[in-house]
Amino acid sequence: MKKQSHTSSFSPSLGGGWGEAVIAIDLGGTIIKIGLLKEGQLVDRTEIIAQSASGLKAQLPELEMAINQMLKSNQLSVTEVLGIGFSFAGLVDSSKNRILSTNQKYDDGPDTDLVGWAMEKWNWPLFAMNDARMALLGEWQHGAGKGCSDLVMVTLGTGIGSAVLIGGELLIGKHFQAGNLGGHFVVNHKGSACTCGNIGCVEAEASTWRLPTLLKEHPEFSESLMKNEEVLDFRALFHHAGNNDRVAKEVLDHCLSVWAAGIITMIHAFDPELIILSGGIMKSSSVILPALQEKVNNLAWMPWGKVKLVEAKFPDSAALYGADYLVRSSINK
Ligand SMILES: [Zn+2]
Repeated sequence: MKKQSHTSSFSPSLGGGWGEAVIAIDLGGTIIKIGLLKEGQLVDRTEIIAQSASGLKAQLPELEMAINQMLKSNQLSVTEVLGIGFSFAGLVDSSKNRILSTNQKYDDGPDTDLVGWAMEKWNWPLFAMNDARMALLGEWQHGAGKGCSDLVMVTLGTGIGSAVLIGGELLIGKHFQAGNLGGHFVVNHKGSACTCGNIGCVEAEASTWRLPTLLKEHPEFSESLMKNEEVLDFRALFHHAGNNDRVAKEVLDHCLSVWAAGIITMIHAFDPELIILSGGIMKSSSVILPALQEKVNNLAWMPWGKVKLVEAKFPDSAALYGADYLVRSSINK
């Protein structure tokens, strides 16, 4: 079920002497990305269609095949790889490298021994981390957060993820969830039920999974051109809002206000110098960024100045870069 074949961005003339390579895996709900990195550079990558509803264990044989194929096509031996960095969309114990909790994807994750799998197949160490934290590491080391010590990463997509860096250290917490649950900050205590069990979370009020209900609940939905859309997603919402469709504009304004409320709470909680925004919804960054920056400037308590909101530099591969950094920094401890 390979979605695309290997794409290589490096010159074959590099030849042997690979030294220390890293395999990076970013296990998303719909796509699994696998990268090969050398000296911090992504030199090869491939993608597999995810079967997240079938569980994580069922996905491992296909992952193994893709990794072995990547080693072969890059003429790399098993001993030339330092280890695997594994990015996962759920709560992860990054000291034992185990998945702690999932939310409707790969629900057998907590029962899956990833470290044992990598050791048995290739004799490699495996280091696992939550995907928003991994993307933050990648953007911090190579992307929009380079040179900063205090960052918040927010991913706007099917759900909403977050991660926090304070004083150059990832915020982890006693149970590995500190800074990770920005999508579940409550912005409306009388609001909608969330998948997490709480009420009125940011992602329960404005996210891709919530959007169709938001639109259908609008009293004038039947008069909006949105009703003709087969898929009620943010692409359609931005399109119709741009054409002055009143329902689309009102729902979009609601979503921007919800995201701003969540981000302002993150600013008050974590005191970052920069907020990096990523995720599928950020394809419309030209609308989102200025609107959110204006709301943040007007509403957040920042006596020192203005926190800057920026777009991720590597929205598609930050977690792969982060996985590479995690493996190297863990081995060199
Ligand atoms: Zn929630």
